[in-house]
Amino acid sequence: MRLIVCWLSCAALLWCGAASANTLVLVSIDGFRWDYLDRSEASVMRSLANKGTRVMKLRSVYPSKTFPAHLSLATGLRPTGHGVVDNYFCRNDRPDCYSMGSGRKDPDWLSGIPLWTLVEMQGGRASTFFWPESDARFSGVLPTDYRAYDGRTPHADRVKQVLEWLALPARERPALVTLYFSAVDSAGHTFGPDAPQTRSAISDIDTWIGRLWSGIETINRELEANINLLLVSDHGMAPVDPDHFIDTDTLPRPAGFKRVNASTRVMYYQREADADIEALKSELSAMSGGRYWHLAPEILAQRHYDQHPAVADLIIETRPPHVFRRGGGKDANLLGMHGYPASEEDMASFLVAIGPAFEVGKVIEEAHQLDVYPVAAKMLELDPPANLPSDGGALRAALKAREPTVPH
Ligand SMILES: [Zn+2]
Repeated sequence: MRLIVCWLSCAALLWCGAASANTLVLVSIDGFRWDYLDRSEASVMRSLANKGTRVMKLRSVYPSKTFPAHLSLATGLRPTGHGVVDNYFCRNDRPDCYSMGSGRKDPDWLSGIPLWTLVEMQGGRASTFFWPESDARFSGVLPTDYRAYDGRTPHADRVKQVLEWLALPARERPALVTLYFSAVDSAGHTFGPDAPQTRSAISDIDTWIGRLWSGIETINRELEANINLLLVSDHGMAPVDPDHFIDTDTLPRPAGFKRVNASTRVMYYQREADADIEALKSELSAMSGGRYWHLAPEILAQRHYDQHPAVADLIIETRPPHVFRRGGGKDANLLGMHGYPASEEDMASFLVAIGPAFEVGKVIEEAHQLDVYPVAAKMLELDPPANLPSDGGALRAALKAREPTVPH
């Protein structure tokens, strides 16, 4: 019906295309390091990058972990802004601790307005087929469509459902669809970033992205839709060496502290007022042997990782090829890790943007994860929240200048 009205009232079909609303399909390929795109296994995604916009290095927030980074992509806020400062953390103002997905049962862990919530609040429809915490209520709101996370869901089912949502008539079509794949991250951890198993996982996802884009192209053509595809990752992956793992059983665990092993760092929360933090700091530093160091307040401030009740009272950090692990390197099926600061080049991820709203053949050397939200909001013609740390930065160049529209 809308197409007929459009046909009758527009001077040319070209104008109808320009006037219909944009849809954004936001896809996360967990653990897809920035340079994976240049591997032979990623040929489809690379060809999409050539026909659209590519960010060579997308810088990750700190820490470069799955839940903090995905929520920063989704909310435009740093981890201390949206509250999920690690995959597992505690807070000094509550006795229990967060672990991945806790926001579904208790939204008090979460702050900010994710894109899917922004869409729903401003009258649109958002459909998520997985994204960390996309099945939790932000400001009491859920996406119209969402799925409780189940990592076993076949990739075919995910892509099929997304294409079904996108093929809905324009009036019902979501403004935002999210999709998430974990396979590249899993292989990168177990086998290492350069292993054949990781290459094979990249190849599998590459095939699914190809099918997704070809479905989108068909819908754009046949339904005169304006569906755009944005591929991102939460972080990269560094090779690590079990011979250099630090056994957390050898580290102090004094009374009065809650200790959390976060793989690239160990966090101590002071739970009792008389717990001696200076003594703990000295003990840790005496036994470090250069393998790890204490994160001083000025370093945490540089990383915007301070002044929040979830930031531990004492944090020690290591760098690749070291990892904190119970038992050290014994029986470790672990050859890749992330969570290190953005100064480790291997933590950078990628971004590819293609579709009617994005520039063709554009290369942006570097952008930040926090740039994604304002650019997505602009493309979807949504008013973003006022407290965003980024105005879109270098990523603004990915958006085409808006074409003139004619009234329907
Ligand atoms: Zn991971």
